[in-house]
Amino acid sequence: MYTIPKKLLSPGATNAKTAKNNIETFILYIAPARQNSKGVNLCPKAAGCEAACLYTAGRGKFSNVQSARINKANYFVYDKEKFILQLAGELVKINKRATKDGKQIAVRLNGTSDIDFIYLLKKYAGLDPFSLSGLIYYDYTKIPGKVKKYLNEPRYSLTFSRDETNEAEARELLKLGANISVVINGPAPFFYLGAPVVDGDKSDIVMLYNTGAVLALKAKGDAKKDTTGFVVHTNETNEPAPFLAIEARKVFNRSLDQLSPSEYTALRDEQFLNQLR
Ligand code: SF4
Repeated sequence: MYTIPKKLLSPGATNAKTAKNNIETFILYIAPARQNSKGVNLCPKAAGCEAACLYTAGRGKFSNVQSARINKANYFVYDKEKFILQLAGELVKINKRATKDGKQIAVRLNGTSDIDFIYLLKKYAGLDPFSLSGLIYYDYTKIPGKVKKYLNEPRYSLTFSRDETNEAEARELLKLGANISVVINGPAPFFYLGAPVVDGDKSDIVMLYNTGAVLALKAKGDAKKDTTGFVVHTNETNEPAPFLAIEARKVFNRSLDQLSPSEYTALRDEQFLNQLR
């Protein structure tokens, strides 16, 4: 049914986008949604994305990579406790090295799934992942409650993935200061759902430097052909004309993506206030 892999976590360098992170990163990839032999849905809120899943992008296209991920998904659904204990062991080991080297290492537990691993690590391994001081965590999720649950947790940044079914929730979470991601086919607009858009492909940890922002992700793989509404094709957006990029030039004499997070936030808030005035 499955074999126990030597390692569950892969180094971020194995993924083109995660390799752009400016801190060392580990990522857990297991086959998403119902791609396991029990048919358990590992992405409970997956909608059109299931067909257009990012799973088909990048290295996921290769069948040996897919088989390894399906194997891990089967391991998870058939022996959750053992899987979680192995994961906890790997995290503790990585944390030991981070602490020894005096650095922070980023961990993305849901590379291609949507599971509350933080909860499961506490439940099955008695490990509070936030007690590992050398690690910070980030994820994308489609579960609004998960974003709210960890909104004030400084060691875990969750980005809500907008799809064709959850725009109202995306708007609400943006107002609470959470980031949302939008998969876009074509040039990204400057504003979407009333919030400023940043390049979510610049690295995999853009979310750590933003709050209340839209992370634009370029449609890749099968997602380019998506017709479910999961992917926003740029000609469908009717967002108001942007001024943020122009203001960045005017105020700081730099482009938007060259601003520090605090400069960016100050400029963005000022722009919102201007719109209300
Ligand atoms: S929730 Fe994410 S990982 Fe799961 S099917 Fe959708 S895009 Fe893929």
